[in-house]
Amino acid sequence: MTITQLRQQLIAGETTPAAILEKLVEEISARDNLTGSYLSHDLASALAEAANADLSLPLGGIPIAIKDNMNVLGQPCTCGSKFLENYIAPYDATVIKKLRAAGAIPFGRMNQDEFAMGSSTENSALGKTSNPHDHTRIAGGSSGGSAAAVADRTAIAALGSDTGGSIRQPASHCGVVGLKPSYGRVSRYGLVAFASSLDQIGPLTQSVEDAALILQAIAGFDPADSTSLDAPVPDYLATLNNGVRGLRLGIPREYFGEGIDPGVRTQVEKSIQSLADQGAELIEISLPHTEYAVATYYVIAPAEASSNLSRFDGIRYGHRASNPADILDLYKKSREQGFGPEVKRRIILGTYVLSSGYYDAYYSRAQKVRTLIRRDFENAFKKVDAILAPVVPSSARKIGAAGADPLQEYLSDIFTIAANLAGIPAISIPCGTVLSDDGKNLPVGLQILGPHLGEAKLLQIAKAAEA
Ligand code: GLN
Repeated sequence: MTITQLRQQLIAGETTPAAILEKLVEEISARDNLTGSYLSHDLASALAEAANADLSLPLGGIPIAIKDNMNVLGQPCTCGSKFLENYIAPYDATVIKKLRAAGAIPFGRMNQDEFAMGSSTENSALGKTSNPHDHTRIAGGSSGGSAAAVADRTAIAALGSDTGGSIRQPASHCGVVGLKPSYGRVSRYGLVAFASSLDQIGPLTQSVEDAALILQAIAGFDPADSTSLDAPVPDYLATLNNGVRGLRLGIPREYFGEGIDPGVRTQVEKSIQSLADQGAELIEISLPHTEYAVATYYVIAPAEASSNLSRFDGIRYGHRASNPADILDLYKKSREQGFGPEVKRRIILGTYVLSSGYYDAYYSRAQKVRTLIRRDFENAFKKVDAILAPVVPSSARKIGAAGADPLQEYLSDIFTIAANLAGIPAISIPCGTVLSDDGKNLPVGLQILGPHLGEAKLLQIAKAAEA
């Protein structure tokens, strides 16, 4: 059941928060050995919270699964890394405080690519996650555990984080709704940082309405995050059913070119047509700097990551190597042992583009191109209310099929990373399935991108497309 449906049952006294938790644990025991979406869960502490749940609150009594890079007091926060395998969070992230204030119960720690670096959850050092629609395939990533659990009905809803697509891409692959809010809309305090100018927390849910409910709870200014915005939070549910009649929806030429799987394209176009049938006006637009998005992102994100991850030094957090020769050796050994290969690759890449002599050629230049990408969207939103696009060029690939060249994997982020570079909101909603060679129906997502702080209209359009 969706959050909305469960809330009705809770209010009518047909179920209890404890019964929901116990049912979830039953479902997890029945199926999650195959899917592998949970790294851990703590029923006892959740039941203690359930006993005091205030059902009059908007998310009263609803358990929400949390990606393992957000701090929940007293629970593990591994980031899918050996470095933090035994780390216990010393405080609640702001999103967790806000979920609790809305009556929700954080329950379950969801698998992810190590430090959110990846698109498949295969980069987790602590477990494997598969796609519930076909267990030989990836769930996507980096919020793969969050998406797979919602799709597998072992979680009602979840939080993920999105730096370059990590909410929307797994949502698309698993057939659930995933929303990346505008940069600054949701506090990042207590989210372990990957690339601070790109990271945003958002919901993964079974329905657009559930996404609106969770965004309502977690959005808003936070003095503890200097990049969070002091802007009023609209009532997202109030406009949810307003439809798309008269809205102008942009179709960016660059998102429908070569490289997109024909099956994915057909499903996305079908969904776009259904919005036109409901009265939206379709307008062809151009986002001319799209082709530079992947290169720009893979300079800026690793640069920020190399700085953010310097705090993992074997002294203050997590893994500490034994028998070091001296302090430098302690840093080196702890990092060598604690980080996996993709994280090391990013740190090396990021340190390189920031080093003197290369800073101007790579990092500064990437920042300039980032401005051009942002302007593409600003220009487009003078003409259209929102933009429609695919989320990923293809449906979920086979586990282990990435090949040895990481660039191929990076290129699959082509449709999601521009939204992070521009700081705008974007949502992925299920829009159909494609039949794989081996006879499985694999979900495909439609992406809707909106202007900065335009979440209300985004959700409204998503609701119409979902219908
Ligand atoms: N796939 C992208 C990366 O590997 C995005 C990850 C994310 O959004 N956290 O960096």
